Amino acid sequence: NGFLYVVATPIGNLDDISQRAIDTLKQADWIAAEDTRHTGRLLQHLAISAKTIALHDHNEKQRAASIIQKCQAGENVALVSDAGTPLISDPGYSLVRQCREAGVRVIPIPGPCALITALCAAGLPTDKFHFIGFLLPKSQQRQNQLADVPAAVGTIICYDTARRIKDTLQDVALVFGAERELVLAKELTKTFEHLEYGTAEQITTWLEADPQRCQGEMVLMIAPTPKADSEISDAAQATLKLLLAELP
Ligand code: SAM
Repeated sequence: NGFLYVVATPIGNLDDISQRAIDTLKQADWIAAEDTRHTGRLLQHLAISAKTIALHDHNEKQRAASIIQKCQAGENVALVSDAGTPLISDPGYSLVRQCREAGVRVIPIPGPCALITALCAAGLPTDKFHFIGFLLPKSQQRQNQLADVPAAVGTIICYDTARRIKDTLQDVALVFGAERELVLAKELTKTFEHLEYGTAEQITTWLEADPQRCQGEMVLMIAPTPKADSEISDAAQATLKLLLAELP
């Protein structure tokens, strides 16, 4: 049997592709791509001339059957998306699920992913985080989406578009309060990479200072619920425990 390789590709800087990803794309019989023209440019850059198949949200269920047939006939298929890790706010879930059910081995080739890239540079807690994917387009839906996130999930990570980011920041302030610490990570790995820290209002002021700041790709991160003042700190709790142990 052939395999399905899930191959991460760069989110901006083409040098971020791994050697293993290059080797996998080179030896694949087929490359299943979200947008074959877009992936064609990456393949050209890597001097790879593989056969490509389009696999996007609208044809994924049907295409999966023919990809599985190829694997069962001994061919290797590499799945890529336009940028980053396939399946992460991108097509591929249905294909991977069907491969699993059909007994086709799925091999992940890890690499860039915007949410992880953003989180590791944000200076927000990383021990627990919650990725909610793309924020919904309408303000009310978006507020409900944000309000539905339970308080204890840690840092909240969202994908959003340049067109909506200012409205989103207003919704975030409504749902989490105007003081909540946010980080907006823009154009990661690209020339104009920038991380802006602050409240919704501070980040909005920064965006409004230059129309170019409202363009490009962005990840919004929301700091976890701050500990209430009345809550006892970890250090105080440890001291209290020691003192209690001493009590007769
Ligand atoms: N599969 C991709 C991944 O692994 O992150 C995500 C694909 S999703 C269709 C595209 C969204 O990811 C963008 O709207 C943006 O929110 C985020 N994104 C992708 N590349 C980015 C970058 N270079 N800088 C900031 N955000 C990025």
